[in-house]
Amino acid sequence: MNAEGLLNRRQACWHLACCGGALALPTSAASQKVTPFCEFSVTRGWGAKRKTEYITHRAGPKDKSGVPQVVNSIYQALSIKPQIEIFLAEKENNAFATVAGGKRIIVVDVEFVETVNKLAKTNWGAIQVIAHELGHHVAGFSADRHKAELNADYWSGQALQRLGASRAAATKAIMVLGSEGDTESHPSKHRRAPTIERGWDDAVANKIDYSFCEDCR
Ligand SMILES: [Zn+2]
Repeated sequence: MNAEGLLNRRQACWHLACCGGALALPTSAASQKVTPFCEFSVTRGWGAKRKTEYITHRAGPKDKSGVPQVVNSIYQALSIKPQIEIFLAEKENNAFATVAGGKRIIVVDVEFVETVNKLAKTNWGAIQVIAHELGHHVAGFSADRHKAELNADYWSGQALQRLGASRAAATKAIMVLGSEGDTESHPSKHRRAPTIERGWDDAVANKIDYSFCEDCR
C-alpha cells in the first residue's frame, strides 16, 4: 500500500487502537507548534482536521533515516519477524502504530525522535519510541488504551535490554517527556517507566511475561 492508500484508509481504522502517541513533547521543549497527533476517538474515528500530507514516503530497508535499520535490530533482539510497513512523516511530533487494510504499520516523524534523543540526552530515546510502536504490534491492540500503552512499553523494555541499553537509559525518554499524571490516552510516566523496567528486568532473566499481550501467542 502506498502512502496515499494509507491516508485514505485512516478513516477506516477507527475501530482499532490506532494511536501510538508514544511521547508528546512538552510545549516548552519545542520551538515549533506541537500538534496533537491523535485525533482519534472511539465514537468518531479519526478527526478530519488533520492535513493528510504529513507522510513523506514509505521507508525502504536502507532508508537514510535509519528507522528501518533500527526496526530490524529490534526484530532480531526480540527474535520476531513481523511484516510491518514503515512510513516516515514530518512535523507530526510523534510516532504511532496502526493496522490499516490488514497491514501492520508504524509511522515515525524522524525529526521528532531526534528531538527525543536531544531532550533525553541519550540515543536510546528514539529507539525506545520505535520499540514502543513495534510493541503495539507485538502485543496486539487492547481495547483498554492505557493497557495497550503499558503493553507496548513492556516490549520496548524487553527490546532495549536485549539491544544493550542500560536500565536507566531505557526509561530516560519517558521520564523526561512523559506526563506527570494519566491522560485520556496514556498512563503517567510513573506507571510507564516501571513497566519498561519490568520488560528490561524480564529480558535480563530471559523470560517473557505474556500478560503484556493481547494475542501474541
Ligand atoms: Zn503507544
